[in-house]
Amino acid sequence: MPRRRKTPVRRPAAAPAAVTADSPCPCGLDDRRYGDCCGVFHAAAKASAASATGPAGGPPAPAPATAELLMRSRYSAFAVGDTGYLLRSWHSRSRPERLELDPAQRWVRLEVLDATDGGPFHVGGTVAFRAHWTERGEPGVLAETSRFVREGGAWVYLDGVLEPAP
Ligand SMILES: [Zn+2]
Repeated sequence: MPRRRKTPVRRPAAAPAAVTADSPCPCGLDDRRYGDCCGVFHAAAKASAASATGPAGGPPAPAPATAELLMRSRYSAFAVGDTGYLLRSWHSRSRPERLELDPAQRWVRLEVLDATDGGPFHVGGTVAFRAHWTERGEPGVLAETSRFVREGGAWVYLDGVLEPAP
């Protein structure tokens, strides 16, 4: 009797635990919870977008005070799949018309390497980072130096230069 060839069992990728307010924030800042970190900005952006069609007024939505915080909140938006936030935090000049995220790509870790300007009194700044992801078990990294400017007073993503993968 011929020996049965053993086919490797491919385990399906474990479904990621949904990010909740109590989860560690995907951006990794100071071990904060998502609900106290990037989740604040995501929720505020959603609320102000919703209120644009409703009665005007109310306090201004909290927005990231620095380019680095905006960058972190955008990374977290990738991690939680908040395309609305990504589009709203993109400069109107460079914003794509639509954005589709690859559901198989999981953003697992962010490293902020360097930041220039981008503070409360700056009008521009850059943030260099490495964003680690996995897709069907294969790891990858996106290394980019992003440029941020202010639009309507708030920090937005302008564009970025990809670095060759290490
Ligand atoms: Zn965060």
